[in-house]
Amino acid sequence: MRKVISIAIPKGGVGKTTTAVNLAASLAVAEKKVLLVDADPAGTCALYLGMDSDALQTDLSHVFSYTKRLSQIILKTSLSHLDFIPTGSSSYQSEERLTRLTGNLLLLRNMLNNECKEYDFIIFDCPPYLKGITTLALAASDSVIMPVKAGQFSVEALKRMFKHLHWVKTNYNPGLNIEGVLFTMYEKNTRAWLITQNELFRTIGEHILNTIIPKSTAITEAEFSGKPAVLHNANSIGARAYLELAQEILARSEGKPWPAGQTSHVVA
Ligand code: ATP
Ligand code: MG
Repeated sequence: MRKVISIAIPKGGVGKTTTAVNLAASLAVAEKKVLLVDADPAGTCALYLGMDSDALQTDLSHVFSYTKRLSQIILKTSLSHLDFIPTGSSSYQSEERLTRLTGNLLLLRNMLNNECKEYDFIIFDCPPYLKGITTLALAASDSVIMPVKAGQFSVEALKRMFKHLHWVKTNYNPGLNIEGVLFTMYEKNTRAWLITQNELFRTIGEHILNTIIPKSTAITEAEFSGKPAVLHNANSIGARAYLELAQEILARSEGKPWPAGQTSHVVA
């Protein structure tokens, strides 16, 4: 069973990278073999993993310019079950070149199929826009997780995301599924969240994941440590929520029912 999951939504600062890194680390902690791919040219994943992105010699841009194979740019991390592919500052340019060659929209998918067979999970951290590399990642994915935080803009971003998913599914990847919408930076009983969650449950309720990621200072603190929150402070509420998310994703992947009695669902 190999599952490729994109973390994507056309909105900045909603916790995509935090989710990609912590979900990847949590699955690795559960002894699944995981490859985290930084598909955002901003390159934040490397920082969350304590790597100096400027010092990294090879990255995704080399793959897009056909100078390296995907398997040649995979890095080890401090977690034995977690490998990492960094992005590169030149990725914006190479990404543009690539998207002009529409036949190559399946490039990543073909490479993953050929060169990354040993992984149980491949997680893409996508940038906050839909064209270019996000579309490539979606074309290569089995499913997508869409993080949202409170606010009307998140609702609007989800509407655009669902339209785009339909387009990718129809044109490039009929096997693409919605893993779910993930509430992040959740604050119980705030008016902004009450409005947001009511709107989302009314319109796309069946797609909302059970696990909710609360707002947690431990997640911000972890950034300074150069470690995912699930490694820096595994007992914090934020880290525990991501460990639980990994269990939910595992259960879904194995076709098991969820929740398994320990849901953090706090939406009343
Ligand atoms: P971008 O679109 O710019 O790539 P993003 O969607 O990847 O942003 P992140 O970088 O993951 O968002 O998070 C944005 C900020 O929110 C970061 O400073 C992060 O520490 C903070 N953050 C994310 N999740 C939480 C949380 N559950 N609790 C508190 N802070 C959080
Ligand atoms: Mg990000």
